This record gives sequence, structure tokens and C-alpha cells, in this order.
Amino acid sequence: QRRTQRRASKDETEVLGVRLTHPDRILFPEQGLTKLDLARYYENIQDWILPHLARRPLSLVRCPQGRTDECFFQKHPRSAIPDSVPRVKISEKQGNADYLYVESAADLVGLVQAGALEIHPWGSHIDDVEHPDILVFDLDPSPGVNWKEILRVASTLRDRLESLGMQSFVRTTGGKGIHLVVPLVPEADWEQAKAFARAVAQLHASDDPERLTTQTSKTKREGLLFIDYLRNGRGNTAVASYSVRARQGAPVAVPVRWDELNAALRADRYSVSNLRRRLAALREDPWEGFLDAARPINTQLLKAVGL
Ligand code: ATP
Ligand code: MN
Ligand code: MN
Repeated sequence: QRRTQRRASKDETEVLGVRLTHPDRILFPEQGLTKLDLARYYENIQDWILPHLARRPLSLVRCPQGRTDECFFQKHPRSAIPDSVPRVKISEKQGNADYLYVESAADLVGLVQAGALEIHPWGSHIDDVEHPDILVFDLDPSPGVNWKEILRVASTLRDRLESLGMQSFVRTTGGKGIHLVVPLVPEADWEQAKAFARAVAQLHASDDPERLTTQTSKTKREGLLFIDYLRNGRGNTAVASYSVRARQGAPVAVPVRWDELNAALRADRYSVSNLRRRLAALREDPWEGFLDAARPINTQLLKAVGL
């Protein structure tokens, strides 16, 4: 049942017990999607988003006045974030710093209240921050690289990981590319995890240097598909599955089955407006078996990629 209530004042409402100011503010002008619509979106899909997002430190893309106004990437909570959203202290170069995390749908509404249009979690949990439990291979096509090429690289990278004994799961980003996500038993630290991801990416790119690169410099990437392994460093993030993106059309990052990744799909195929239809039609979680597939990055595995 819906627990959204209208107060007497039009400028304020409550969703899941969280105060939402300016509920009618339009965040995505092309769709007329309001702050209240976004809060209800997360309320509706909470059982899909929370299992992979809960208790991870977060960065946010905030656009308090909407997608087409000023947006900023924010790692540390400031005053605009409701106190009800939980915080965790994490050590950084300059001492401890606060990070947000979510535990419940009400916390997601708290992020919406702060104008968060994108949610970007760490690859580890607050209970064991130093040991990542996922790797993300972020396939970034430069202009001119077509969808077919992205599909081809996704599939060959999947095979490479499989030959290392690692299962990968795929999601559309809501943008231009896709992510391969690999579940880990959280044993290795960030340095080892990133070194492993870099080695896998470099091996893959060196097999096909005409089309692939791991070079970060934009000019060296021209015309190539960039295998971005840099999502795997301590403090780095990738967009959450089922997070909306601050882009035209209110697209959503969406986990898909490998057999759905075909020529008819696109990275921005799903959005706040059509996701519900997809979820209703699913017979099982497209990432079924994700947790059971976790493997540790151990010395044997590091050796297998030349480390
Ligand atoms: P696409 O498929 O279009 O590449 P994406 O989510 O993979 O979508 P980006 O939007 O380019 O790619 O973001 C890459 C990652 O870099 C994001 O997931 C985010 O966690 C991180 N990021 C984005 N902006 C910043 C920033 N200003 N500072 C630090 N990290 C950022
Ligand atoms: Mn990307
Ligand atoms: Mn990237």
C-alpha cells in the first residue's frame, strides 16, 4: 500500500516517513518527471535495488534543481542530506571522512530529497570496507564505436574471465556502454583487486590493439573501446544497478541476462518510465546466482594474469 501522504502545504509531502520538499519540482523536463515521481520510483523498485546497494559507501550525482540545471559529483554528505540517511566514517589521507550509505527504501527517499539523481556505490561494504566484493569492467566506447563492437568485447571479456574461473554479470549503464560485474569473495585488498582488474584489461586490450585500449588519455582512446578498469580502486565507484542517470530520458542502469545482450538492446533502453514493465515480466532475477558465483582473488589467480 502507498504510504505517501499529502500535507496541507503543497510544498511538502512525506514518502515512507521521509520529508520531501518541493515534491512537484520537475527533475527531468523531457518526461515531466518530478521529485515525488522519483521517490515513488525507488519505493516501487526497492526490492530490486537494495540487495546490491545496501551498506555500501556512496557517492552521488546531485542536481538539486533538476537534470538540466547544475549537477555535481559528491563524495561526502553536506547539510542538504537528511540526517536520517546513515553515515559511516572511512579513513582517508586527511583523516576520517563521512560517507553516506543506505539501508532501506526510506534512505533512498532521503537521497531523492537531497536532489540525488545518480547513486554510485563502492565495490565494498561498510562492514569490510578494505576488501572489495565486486569488480567492475566498464566498457566505454569512444564516438564511432558501434553497439555490435561493444557486444563483441563484452562477450570475449566474459570468456576471458570464465577461463580464469570467474563468472561475470552484465548491466546496461543508461548511458553509452555496459558494465561487466564480477562477484568476489572479499579477501584481496583494493590494491590487489585493482592490479588484477588492470592486468585482465591489459591482456584483453593487447590481444586486439586496433580496437581496444586501457589508456586513459582521451586522444589515445580515439576510435577505440576503452576498457575502464579504474572503477576498481579504493574510493572509486560505478553507478548502482537500478539507479536513474542524470541524462536525457531518465534512463536507468539495468542488470540483464547475457542472452538479452543482443543487437536490439541499447545501453539506454530502460528508463524510469518503462522499467516497471520489464521487472513485472521477469521470471527470475537476471543476475540469479550472483552471490554463489563469488570467487576470491588469490595468489593463484594473480599469477594466472602475470602478477
Ligand atoms: P557510460 O555507459 O555512458 O560510460 P558510465 O556510468 O559507465 O556510463 P560515466 O558516467 O562516464 O560512465 O562515469 C564513470 C564513473 O566515474 C561513474 O560511474 C562515477 O562513479 C565516476 N565519476 C563520475 N563523475 C565523477 C567525478 N566528477 N569524480 C569522480 N568520479 C566520477
Ligand atoms: Mn562507462
Ligand atoms: Mn568509464
